[in-house]
Amino acid sequence: MPLTPNPYSPYATAAADARHVFFGFLGADPLPNVLGVTACDALAVVPAEPLTLTDPANPSVGLCPECVAAMSGRTLRVRRPRGEVTDCRFCEAATSHGGVCALCRQELHDEWWPIRPASDTVPEGTVPTRIARPRPGEIEAGQRLPDGARLVDDTTVFANPFTVEWSIDTGLAADEDDARTYVVNVFEEWLTAPYADTEWPRLAEQRAKVLALLPSLKGRPLACSCDLGKPCCGDVLLRLANP
Ligand SMILES: [Zn+2]
Ligand SMILES: [Zn+2]
Ligand SMILES: [Zn+2]
Repeated sequence: MPLTPNPYSPYATAAADARHVFFGFLGADPLPNVLGVTACDALAVVPAEPLTLTDPANPSVGLCPECVAAMSGRTLRVRRPRGEVTDCRFCEAATSHGGVCALCRQELHDEWWPIRPASDTVPEGTVPTRIARPRPGEIEAGQRLPDGARLVDDTTVFANPFTVEWSIDTGLAADEDDARTYVVNVFEEWLTAPYADTEWPRLAEQRAKVLALLPSLKGRPLACSCDLGKPCCGDVLLRLANP
């Protein structure tokens, strides 16, 4: 039986299709369900059942090869080159975790954990639609996202880099409703236009990531915090993921 990958989180940065290894801190096992630093130097959800370390010469199927390399090298963890260092878009601390720092990722993950679907598998017969992210009162009442749903709101990698504030400040939109329609249209153009990477070169890395993740959204309900009747980038992602 191959190892199951770590539980899904929209804020994890480690490869999603592998099981990663965590190092206990001073002999204590890392707490389950939080985002932990993996041996391959990324962030992944610590599973409830700890991994029993196997012989590094005979790694189990499904184990992250970079974690295996770090273990067999007897290094505490590998330092692999990360992305460009930028300001975290939530707290402005310098970060190499793709625009959101590890602390903010942990906080966002802790908000995601209570609303996560009971299963990441999409039930047969699911019609992919945009759904609402449970609001604070609903979260307290225990409401969770349906099975297989993925969060695509502005806290995730799918966040629209073209914001409502930007379009109003630059005079491209007259008011908030106008701006919402405008930025959703620019978002779609950014993802689909052949000239996008030359038009918006600083956003090329994020665009490549979003395009690479589109197949993983196929067939799934997509949750956003936008009102259901209003234009939302989730609708664009839904269309592009289900051509
Ligand atoms: Zn790993
Ligand atoms: Zn931050
Ligand atoms: Zn939205």
